[in-house]
Amino acid sequence: MNKYAAELLDVCGQAVLVVDPDTLLVEYANAETGMLFECNAETLLGRSMFDLDTGLQEQFFWEEIRSGLTSGAPRLEGTLRTLRGLERHVVKTVSRRTLAGRTRIVVTARDISSERAAEELAARSASLFAATLESTADALLVLDLIDRVLHFNRNFAKTFGLSLEQIESRESRSILEGARAGFDTPEAWDALLTLGRQEPETAHRQTLALSDGRWLDCSQRPQNLHGQVIGRIWSFSDVTDRMRREEALLAARDAADSANRAKSQFLSAMSHELRTPLNAILGFSQLLELDDLPSQRESLQTIRQAGEHLLALIDEVLDLARIEAGRIDLRIQQVSVEEVVAEAIALTRPLAQQHDIEITAEIPSNLIAMADPRRLRQVLINLISNGAKYNHQLGTVTVRARPGSPATCVTIEIADTGIGIPAEDFDKLFQPFSRIPNAPHHVEGTGLGLALVWRLIQLMSGNVRVESELGTGSRFIVELPAG
Ligand code: ADP
Repeated sequence: MNKYAAELLDVCGQAVLVVDPDTLLVEYANAETGMLFECNAETLLGRSMFDLDTGLQEQFFWEEIRSGLTSGAPRLEGTLRTLRGLERHVVKTVSRRTLAGRTRIVVTARDISSERAAEELAARSASLFAATLESTADALLVLDLIDRVLHFNRNFAKTFGLSLEQIESRESRSILEGARAGFDTPEAWDALLTLGRQEPETAHRQTLALSDGRWLDCSQRPQNLHGQVIGRIWSFSDVTDRMRREEALLAARDAADSANRAKSQFLSAMSHELRTPLNAILGFSQLLELDDLPSQRESLQTIRQAGEHLLALIDEVLDLARIEAGRIDLRIQQVSVEEVVAEAIALTRPLAQQHDIEITAEIPSNLIAMADPRRLRQVLINLISNGAKYNHQLGTVTVRARPGSPATCVTIEIADTGIGIPAEDFDKLFQPFSRIPNAPHHVEGTGLGLALVWRLIQLMSGNVRVESELGTGSRFIVELPAG
């Protein structure tokens, strides 16, 4: 072979070997062959193909070549071992040629190890992807941008009860039809599918009912590849339990609401009915008191006191019922805190005097709150009377007010030096008819005052809370929007 041809063969980009057809010994190997076998090409000369092409199939193949049963193969894929023992994937051609008048076997080979590795990697990630889809609890469906089904998992087929035929057909139309048929209102599913097609970059989600009573949360997200949306991934999760619980909760809430409305209406009607005869009893007992008959004085006083207590109770029940039925009209306006506190103190002073309690007030004169003045007075009367009722003898009730923090609110504090309230009873305080067993039995009360206070203050967009120390006293803190 001349030098030019030899150099050309060395740079032709694949391994070329010439083999004696009878002995299968290598007669020629170009430089590329040396690289393939990790040796100098010359060391290959004189070696047998049985030593170089070591796979079992290859051994048979070379045996057939030697015995003339085959003249070669256009393209063969296989492995070969380098002289250092490394295994390489190659694609080779083996052909019988006449070179310079002699029959020779010409072998060409190309290393495809890295291509194979890439293919294996791709296959592994594809099966990993499929396994991941299978092991998710949700039903999954992958669509391209024109609603062709690219993939779905077994859960999807199970959720929509797809037939074996539909699954095996892998036909987009049949699969989507199968899913559509499962929905209670297939039009809702159509609309969701259309939305996904029209806005593939956006995530969409909706809970839809299936015709067999189950509920599915259908959620669709864009599938991105290199920053581009190439399709959409749908996931469907069974939310039947959650929907049933929500339905039951809604039904229970509606039932409770209507029972509550009925109760409020009943209370409101009853309170009116009770009030009329009671006013008559009170009026007539006052008239009789004017006669001042010593024998009747005590009995009349008892009738009047009992009547007044009952009237207070009815008024509070009526107010609560009105609030709960949403039938209370508040006239929120700018209110001088100083004035309302002064009125409330004036009205509670007789009660405080009965208990030997002193009431004092520290109110800045320019303090303005947004409130209904009549209702705020009612709140303050309740809190100040409680301060007086649940106090020690010769105790005090102090009403303080100041701009709150933030300055958008006003704080009014009613502090007493009384018996205090156990901390564990704080949250019961504002519930109707809850009287805390901290007070001596003879203290009169309905257990409704604080419930009213809480509701009225809430309606005036304010807040009320309590701080207390047993035996030392309590502090009710009312916060209202500043005017
Ligand atoms: P009542 O008509 O019984 O006073 P309230 O709703 O006004 O009803 O108060 C509920 C209960 O909270 C009272 O029965 C009393 O046990 C307790 N309470 C209220 N205010 C005070 C206070 N300033 N000090 C101690 N206990 C109080």
